Amino acid sequence: MEQKMRAAVFQGDGKLEICMVDIPKLRKPDDVLVQVEACSICGTDVHILNVPPGYHAKPGTILGHELVGKVVAVGEAVTQIKIGDRVVCNPNEYCGVCNYCRRNLPNLCEHIIPLGIEEDGGFAEYVRLSECCTYRVADDLPAEIAMFAEPLACMMNGVKKLCVQPGESVLVLGAGPIGLMMVQLMKASGASPVIVSETSTIRRGIALESGADIVVDPQNESLKEIVAENTQLGPDHVLDMTGGLFGQAVELVRKGGQILLFGVNASAATEIAQSRITQKEITVLGTWLANASFPAAISILESNLLPLERLVTHRCSLEELEEMILLLRQGKAVKILVDPIK
Ligand SMILES: [Zn+2]
Ligand SMILES: [Zn+2]
Repeated sequence: MEQKMRAAVFQGDGKLEICMVDIPKLRKPDDVLVQVEACSICGTDVHILNVPPGYHAKPGTILGHELVGKVVAVGEAVTQIKIGDRVVCNPNEYCGVCNYCRRNLPNLCEHIIPLGIEEDGGFAEYVRLSECCTYRVADDLPAEIAMFAEPLACMMNGVKKLCVQPGESVLVLGAGPIGLMMVQLMKASGASPVIVSETSTIRRGIALESGADIVVDPQNESLKEIVAENTQLGPDHVLDMTGGLFGQAVELVRKGGQILLFGVNASAATEIAQSRITQKEITVLGTWLANASFPAAISILESNLLPLERLVTHRCSLEELEEMILLLRQGKAVKILVDPIK
């Protein structure tokens, strides 16, 4: 095997450079070396490359964490994964021994090492993973679908905290890539109606294609009135995918309903009249990363339950990454597949 590879390395201050770097070597006995087939761009990558950064990554790190690839080498302690297996990964490696890991909450581990943020990631020809974070996927699952495993696993972790029954109403606030996946998943779960509030025209269009029953432009229409017209009491479940619409969620959800806070916006600080939550008997749920939800996510992908291909708007090479990040920043793209071999 050649010893060098191309990789997109974060240089700090919004800079990303395509460099020739050493192919990673197996370091621990349970390491797995993967040849990357595709890695999609996540909102986190966009935040990392903002100036000032909306999310901190370690300069010198290869970015990218939503990947699929083929195993080309395994350490001597690897037992479940073989050379030639096609895999996806949980990019948040947990320690397994801290007090959260011991409570089966590895997503809340005190020593998480995030791939593509602090440890070299998937915008490269090869990536090193640990076996515990590596999951096999079918050989014939298209790469553009397999790359959704990680965001879908995070969503499944949130959705299993909700109890959405067929025929219940759901309001999705924000239809970025994850919001659109959520619309598809809610429809597949039998929710009805699924109402989407989103300011971007392109994204409202894709929300309709993804199965949304009603889309609302909250800048030009009254979300409150449309929700009232289409649900008897207010939505049974309100999902804030933006990280900044908690107040709106509390106002709109029906009494006794549920709010899932999925999106993250560290600078949002919503003022809430706490009594509204008490008197409406609202359940407010937070959710963070993926916990034991990869098997379900992979099963959904392999069964072709969701029309995820509709969310893939672009494909690019490593060299085109920066250009694509600009498109995402401008809201002109949804999900972008990066092919490191291209
Ligand atoms: Zn991500
Ligand atoms: Zn831990």
